[in-house]
Amino acid sequence: MPVYNNILETIGRTPAVRLNRLAPEGIELYVKVEAANPMGSVKDRLALGVIEEAERSGRLRPGQTVIEATSGNTGIGLAMVCAQKGYPLVVVMAENFSVERRKLMRFLGAKIVLTPAAEKGSGMLAKAVELAEKHDWFLCQQFENEANADVHSRTTAREIVEDFETIGLDYWVTGFGTGGTLKGVSRVLKDKLPDTKVVVCEPDNSQLLGSGIPQPREVVDGVTTSHPNFRPHLMQGWSPDFVAKLTEDALKEQWIDRIVPVGGQRALECSRELASQEGIFTGISGGATLAGALRLCEQIEPGSKVLCMLPDTGERYLSTTLFEDIAVDMTEDEVAISKSTPRFRFDRPSPPPPKPTNTPVAAPTICPEADDYVQTVINDTDQPVVMFSLEWCEFCWSVRRMFKELGIPYRSIDLDSVAYQDGNWGGRVRTALNARTGMATIPQIFVGGELIGGCTETFDAYEGRTLQPRFAALGIETTATPGFEPYSFLPKWLQTR
Ligand code: PMP
Repeated sequence: MPVYNNILETIGRTPAVRLNRLAPEGIELYVKVEAANPMGSVKDRLALGVIEEAERSGRLRPGQTVIEATSGNTGIGLAMVCAQKGYPLVVVMAENFSVERRKLMRFLGAKIVLTPAAEKGSGMLAKAVELAEKHDWFLCQQFENEANADVHSRTTAREIVEDFETIGLDYWVTGFGTGGTLKGVSRVLKDKLPDTKVVVCEPDNSQLLGSGIPQPREVVDGVTTSHPNFRPHLMQGWSPDFVAKLTEDALKEQWIDRIVPVGGQRALECSRELASQEGIFTGISGGATLAGALRLCEQIEPGSKVLCMLPDTGERYLSTTLFEDIAVDMTEDEVAISKSTPRFRFDRPSPPPPKPTNTPVAAPTICPEADDYVQTVINDTDQPVVMFSLEWCEFCWSVRRMFKELGIPYRSIDLDSVAYQDGNWGGRVRTALNARTGMATIPQIFVGGELIGGCTETFDAYEGRTLQPRFAALGIETTATPGFEPYSFLPKWLQTR
């Protein structure tokens, strides 16, 4: 294992892994796990390839903003590359792609511009062009940029050749979005492993290649005309509403030996089976590619070796239909397991621990400095809203969210923070506080020197409109949006209504 100079050096060299349970008898079926890339998808390769080519050619200037239209994975890869290299990034994305993707990109420092789902992939592309022209930003143009296919020829294809040249490979199975993987890999396979057949999968309800209908090339108002056979489908990242130039190149060169249509439900099923039966975690397009590969396996000679691309990680789909049957709460089976031992259950309190014999419990001693401190803090007129809190406590986070929404300035005394650790200062303050209020729990919220209570008491005081006059009396204005509901700020597992 080498030591890497930066994260970008870890892109690529993904493993080809043999399937042991899902492979049909007599077929050696392998998957290439692109989730092993640092940001979890095949598009990390493209992001690095496109940016470095643009740097070399001078089309991308130091510090220039990078922009791209993407269904997500390209944006996530670009966000990593741009963060590492110091370019600002704007990603244009249709609103119907999973929200995890938006959050991931923003976490990496990118800005996201959403486009309406109804305007499809071509609409989001046209928006990116518009923004790039207006602001003189560098547009990656993944759908036609040769650097996309080139990086796959240099890396993905070379890895496949190295892994299989001695054992042999009969079929390589992929889907297509931009067609970068398809063009870049099949070009090299035709040269270096000429006996390997290239198999391309596409959604069965949206057969662009399978239809044989050529892609219309008219551009109206900067928007490419959709392919007449395009229909919305489940496989995020696959078949946009047009056949991209890179895909068309592979088609024209006759590098595609077979086209396999794949059903959406079958794709979901295969993704779930890969996870539960092989321990391989991939997204919907990975499930779809495997579904295509398994269908192919029914038609080919025993002893064949098949490699199937798995473009990304399943973690990107937690909010989508892929996970809709995955429970959040305990299932019946899990409840039964929980009930098989006596303690730590939801249906009854844990039996009390055995009483210690003959050890008198000392009443906690109140530290006078800590009591003075509490007294001073709660009566500080400069900071009249005070919350005694814990950094890790979810009730405390909920009150913070409410104060933030209302625009209320407050002082947070985080009793478990490092600043309060020395000499158990936090513990002593907590003991003094508890003795004063008679409350044992945290958070405890004070307004103008008076105790409001804990988290739910504070929410109730807001809903009962007894809290607002206290803020008003202190000259604090609140700014709730209409329909504001404090209880919605509790984490779901704590919400009792
Ligand atoms: N699957 C997923 C999840 C993707 O994000 C993409 C890229 N859009 C692909 C497959 C297809 O890859 P390519 O663009 O190289 O054809």
